Amino acid sequence: MARFPALAFLLTHPSHGAMLFDTGYSRHFLHATRGMPERLYRAIAPPRLGPKESLQQQLERDGIDASHIGTVMLSHLHGDHIGGLRDFPHSALLCSRQGWNDLNRRSRLAALSRGMLPALLPDGFGQDAQWIEDLPSVPMTGVFEAFATGYDLWNDGSMLAIPLPGHAAGHYGLLFQATSGEHVFLVADAVWSSTALLDGVPPPSFVTSWLGDTAAYIATLEQLRKLRRDAPDLRIVPSHCDMHRP
Ligand SMILES: [Zn+2]
Repeated sequence: MARFPALAFLLTHPSHGAMLFDTGYSRHFLHATRGMPERLYRAIAPPRLGPKESLQQQLERDGIDASHIGTVMLSHLHGDHIGGLRDFPHSALLCSRQGWNDLNRRSRLAALSRGMLPALLPDGFGQDAQWIEDLPSVPMTGVFEAFATGYDLWNDGSMLAIPLPGHAAGHYGLLFQATSGEHVFLVADAVWSSTALLDGVPPPSFVTSWLGDTAAYIATLEQLRKLRRDAPDLRIVPSHCDMHRP
């Protein structure tokens, strides 16, 4: 059986403070998948979560209290990305309206069949979240031109949410420049691994069709592969890639 990490990212903006990109698994995920039919999710993709491995606990270990996380941005609404969201009740939430509308119109079972567990979202999520699509839009240029439009998180160009369609409704990556000077593009599940980015092999089409839109997935994958060639110094980081492997 293959093992895949479910990565979440802590970023610190010089003016706006700490924010998260996704939240990984947590005890809330285990709670939400106790009974049927949600237990099927756990059966298909069994998580391994040690007693002190939730994101909240990892942050605590680094001296960061959950209340200090100003914003949580969700790349999309799959259970393995929003599992820890309820551990950050003080944070502003940023998510795609398209993703939320897609989830909201589905029954519990239809959402589950697409990898979504609505019980992981805090009560009032639809009223409280800020939508990525409402942020100031920025035309993408140069090597990023194919991505057309970015959404400026802080209205200063420092962090751009970039639509990466195909994997799931309202699926977004995040582009920013680290303090080291390195440009980083968190691409969530637009590509499964750095190896897949190199060889261009998408997941089986039944998987991409089941979760999203295969044609859009492949188009996004090709855009990312071209970006990798055109911007070799850009660090492209998928969410389920073992960071210790090339
Ligand atoms: Zn996903």
